[in-house]
Amino acid sequence: MINPKISLVIPLYNEEKSLPLLIDRLNKLISGSDITFEIVLVDDGSTDATAEICNQIAFSDERYHCIFLARNYGHQIALSAGISEASATEALMILDGDLQDPPELFFEFYNYYTEGYDVVYGIRKNRKENLLKKAAYFIFYRILKKISYIDIPLDSGDFSLISRRVADVLNKMPEESRYIRGMRSWIGFKQVGVEYERDERIAGNSKYSLSMLMKLAFNGIFNFSEIPIKFITKLGVFSVIVSLIYFVITLIRKFFYIDVPVGFTGLLFVIILFGGVQLISLGIIGEYIVRIFFQVKNRPLFIIKSRIKEKHSTQQ
Ligand code: UDP
Ligand code: MG
Repeated sequence: MINPKISLVIPLYNEEKSLPLLIDRLNKLISGSDITFEIVLVDDGSTDATAEICNQIAFSDERYHCIFLARNYGHQIALSAGISEASATEALMILDGDLQDPPELFFEFYNYYTEGYDVVYGIRKNRKENLLKKAAYFIFYRILKKISYIDIPLDSGDFSLISRRVADVLNKMPEESRYIRGMRSWIGFKQVGVEYERDERIAGNSKYSLSMLMKLAFNGIFNFSEIPIKFITKLGVFSVIVSLIYFVITLIRKFFYIDVPVGFTGLLFVIILFGGVQLISLGIIGEYIVRIFFQVKNRPLFIIKSRIKEKHSTQQ
């Protein structure tokens, strides 16, 4: 196959139930168009039949290109692997494998691309999740917007179309703790958001556990903001001022009033409070250090076990 114009990049982790439906919808989408498509399926170390289904489709349809990662690396890394594999000459569309991001929006996104936009991202109009998760997302994105040094759009995820040159920049960014929606904003060029209804997951459960979501949220905050670490200095100044005031009050009481026994409880309170503040501060510093620690190891982001590409050759 000559180099395709468009690659659709889809990370998959234990998606055996939704994958056949996804393939159906993708086939409908790409068959009716004269654009040449390539579909890059990334099997992120699935333990169910996902890899087998990928195998089958890649051997029977040359538009499908599959890579199999050596283990489960997580959504952001799987996406990065897919982006680096994609060979599209014009643009790449990134979408989830559970059909929460409707592939049919491709043409709307592509129209913007032809008008000169380098990044077209989806903005979720409506999340069909439970109330708690919705509230958590709502608060997180607003905090992130407030404190990050780049303008990360509200309620946008990884669902997007990116031009070849944006994909090239992403491939050159070696950061280990990846937060692709933030990196995408950081790159710049002309970007536009398109509102869409985020569908419910078609089958199976979310593959993001609470701790993985927290990790992603922390990557968003600590990779794109220096406010947490600067906040420590402010906290330090504040605590010095509070303790000075307390000191002056104690002196006044000692010299001008009868000698009332002053504040054992107060003392204890202050010790515990500032003990806590110090631990939190250490934690915040630790978040930055741990990122430096993993980055300086300079390990490859992912390892590809095998791939099926063109003319049905399997490469190791
Ligand atoms: N995913 C992945 N590796 C993982 C977790 C998830 O490749 O370790 C894929 C998953 O199969 C799906 C996409 O990433 O295609 C988004 O995951 P999910 O739907 O579980 O996230 P949510 O929509 O709940 O945020
Ligand atoms: Mg999902």
